[in-house]
Amino acid sequence: MSYIPLDERSVAPFLATVPAVALRLGGAPEGWQVREVGDGNLNLVFLVSGPDGGVAAKQALPYVRLVGESWPLPLSRAYYERLALADEALHAPARVPALVHHDDGMALTVMDLLAPHRTLRGALVEGERYPLMAGHLAEFLADTLFFTSDMAVPVAEKKARIAAYLGNTAMCRITEDLIFDEPFFDAPMNHHTPGLADIVAAFRADVPLRLAAQGMKARFLAAPEALLHGDLHTGSVMVTADDTKVIDAEFAFYGPIGFDVGMILANLWMGYLAQPGQRPHAAIDPWLLDQAEALWEGFAERFAGHWRALSPEGDHGSLHALALTDAALREAAIEERLAAIWQDALGFAGCEMIRRIVGLAHIADFETIVDEGRRADCERRALLIARALLVERAAFPDVGAVTDALRLEAVAA
Ligand code: ADP
Ligand code: MG
Repeated sequence: MSYIPLDERSVAPFLATVPAVALRLGGAPEGWQVREVGDGNLNLVFLVSGPDGGVAAKQALPYVRLVGESWPLPLSRAYYERLALADEALHAPARVPALVHHDDGMALTVMDLLAPHRTLRGALVEGERYPLMAGHLAEFLADTLFFTSDMAVPVAEKKARIAAYLGNTAMCRITEDLIFDEPFFDAPMNHHTPGLADIVAAFRADVPLRLAAQGMKARFLAAPEALLHGDLHTGSVMVTADDTKVIDAEFAFYGPIGFDVGMILANLWMGYLAQPGQRPHAAIDPWLLDQAEALWEGFAERFAGHWRALSPEGDHGSLHALALTDAALREAAIEERLAAIWQDALGFAGCEMIRRIVGLAHIADFETIVDEGRRADCERRALLIARALLVERAAFPDVGAVTDALRLEAVAA
């Protein structure tokens, strides 16, 4: 099918021609409920329900929705998104919506309707708690990242998988520009809360900080360690009381493991730091700090567990193959690898926090703080910690060290 953008009127008749979708929804297309909910920055998302079930149909537009037709973006991102959704489903089937149908010509991916799920970011802004979320995200990260890495995948196959994603360059370019470059100079689309002008100017003249950000960019550009989700913030996670699903894999490519880990941690930490602005008269709730710790510790334990479960007789990758028959070597390798991932995660988390405050794409956690003075206070605190995560990485040997730094700052509010 050649490309035509769908709208709320055309989506039901179009989907009725796809047997797998028509069967899932049941009844006649005239009776299907259709709602376009693309609250994201890039694509159309139609939620479609019939008498027997529902689907979400996501279609790419040939430009960035947030900005308009002046910023073209290739439709091929829909192809990479469904490729990644299929790969994620191989390793973490419980943590992603199942793929129902795809149409590369239409840049369309049809998947399970997640209901009554809501985005984690929206829930956190309202002060909701989801006790299973951190464990589920640790599972998603450990399973998708370990089982696409050189520890688990034989080298020829690993290189073929890297190659399969190499064409997703336009999406990687967005990250390269928006996370690692633009926040660190006066780029045209940057914006920030008025009270931050001094610290923003200081950051843009800060040689150690700008060098550290470029160091993280170097890792992002040239470390194809595992299949990354590539955009794992709290808006890419949907939750209910007992389920957690990861959506929106259009930024997927083979990159450094610490990128996915650092991005989600940064977003939990920012959710925590936004509290004094969101609920100025309430006591600070440490729940999100605990969740960030549980997420990192759950990830590290499960990642190590996958490694310990590899046997020389079974399928495994070529990296550290010698460690499969030497328990002491294996434990040392696990420790070294996790320490390196942690160091990367700190640097990537720092970049993510800075760009969400001084770059183009901001987050509801801070943006919903109406009082600009309060918002600037929360954001300034986040900026100072982010700088430390990048420039003084050695001061944070473990997640507890970050928790301590964040907690002190919040009490000082
Ligand atoms: P974008 O890439 O444009 O940011 P997303 O994939 O993040 O789009 O989807 C945008 C919104 O659509 C999500 O925030 C969510 O509210 C909704 N959504 C996406 N996928 C599903 C799904 N499978 N089930 C229910 N809602 C969904
Ligand atoms: Mg997206």
